[in-house]
This record gives sequence, C-alpha cells and structure tokens, in this order.
Amino acid sequence: MLRISGLRTGYGDVPILHGLDLEIEEGMIGAVVGANGAGKTTTMRAIAGILPAWQGEIHVAGERIDGLAPQKRVEAGVILVPEGRRLFPSMSVRENLELGSLHPRARSARAGTLEQVFEIFPRLRERENQRAGTLSGGEQQMCAIGRGLMGLPRVLMLDEPSLGLAPIVVETIFDVVRRIRAEGVTVLMVEQNVRHALALSDRAWVLEHGRIEIEGAGDEMLADERVRRAYLGM
Ligand code: ATP
Repeated sequence: MLRISGLRTGYGDVPILHGLDLEIEEGMIGAVVGANGAGKTTTMRAIAGILPAWQGEIHVAGERIDGLAPQKRVEAGVILVPEGRRLFPSMSVRENLELGSLHPRARSARAGTLEQVFEIFPRLRERENQRAGTLSGGEQQMCAIGRGLMGLPRVLMLDEPSLGLAPIVVETIFDVVRRIRAEGVTVLMVEQNVRHALALSDRAWVLEHGRIEIEGAGDEMLADERVRRAYLGM
C-alpha cells in the first residue's frame, strides 16, 4: 500500500534522510522508532508532501505521489496526524473533525464518517460542541485522530500519538489504532514508546541518523538484542 524507495530529503541544503526504503502492506501497522533527531518526523513530512523529496519515489496503492502537492496527497488518502495534535482550540470538536473532510471524496461521505468516528470515540460525541482547547490531552489526541479519519485515509500517519498521555489513555489510543487496522486502513506510526509500538506493529524500522539500521516484524524486533539494548534498556 505504501512503498518508499531511495528517499532523500532534508532542510535547506542539510540532508536528513539518506536513501530510505520502506514498504507496508495494505491493512498493516508499520512503526518507525529511533532516537530524537533520527529523522522520523521528517519521513512523515516527506510522505505527506510538506517537505519535498530530493530523490526517490513514494507510491501509494500503486500510484506515484512524490510529485503531488500536499492537498492532492490528502485526496489520494495520505493523511498525517501531526505531533502535538494541532487542533483549532477555539473551534468545537465537531468543527475540528469536519475540517478533516474538506476534499470532495471525504465531503460527500461526511455524515456517515462522522458517525463512525463517534462510534470509535464515544467521548468525542459527548464533547461534540465543546471547544477543542478545553479537552484533556487524551481527548485532543482522539480528536486529532478522528479528524484524520474524516479524510478517509488509505494510509494514516500518526506522529507520536502517545506523547504526554497517561498510561491508561495510551492503552485507549493503541486500541483504537488496532481497530483502525481492522477497518482495513494502513497505519504508519512514529513512536517514542518503543516497547508498545513494536508490540502493536506488523512491521517496524529503527531509524538512526536518517538511515534504517534494523528492520523486521514487530515481535522479532522486540526480541532483537540490539533493539533491546539500545531502546528497551535491557
Ligand atoms: P524527534 O523525536 O526529536 O522529533 P525525529 O526523529 O522525528 O526526532 P526529525 O524531527 O525528523 O527527527 O528531525 C531530524 C533532524 O532534522 C534533526 O537533526 C532536526 O534538528 C532537523 N530538523 C527538523 N526540522 C527542521 C527544520 N524545520 N529545519 C531545519 N532542521 C530541521
């Protein structure tokens, strides 16, 4: 569903990603883990088109998207839920959700999708008319993921979805990610919670200094000595 080959990009003339290869099958969860500054967020920005690729190709469902403007990628089903949620605090929960469905394919399905999002996140239904800025951190993350779902993603990218959340809320968010996979959506996530991310993911990549150093199935990675030493403190 998502295939990246030889991706190089950076900021200004400073290279950050040095030829990234990554592939996720439809309906799977992929996780990118690695130290701060490894290039995880940069990878997602390049896929979303916020940052142009210098070299390499990005394909989604067989279609090459690396030349497309960010909005065209959204229409193609490539949707990023950014780190820090980026909601509009003075708008209501419902208005924030609706902002996820501006492109024609999503707009015509809006009422039905909103109902599905409320089924996944009953808390958002309860808070539908409340200003997003008054939500708890966990509720804001739910709203941000809900907004992503409103765009009818084929590939949903989650940048640090568990950051700053209490353990019980992290469980809820990860349960939702499983449910999203069960609906057939392909998920690519970046996580600092390496243990959780590997346990959840079908495929995972350790990124170091803009290069993939280790790659494998999530459960294999959990058992990998290098991963255990460097990221699981064992
Ligand atoms: P983190 O968990 O800290 O966000 P990350 O793996 O997501 O880490 P990136 O945010 O992709 O890392 O950053 C990779 C490198 O690019 C870092 O060295 C960072 O300083 C640099 N960088 C990130 N954003 C910019 C920017 N807008 N301009 C210049 N350099 C940037």
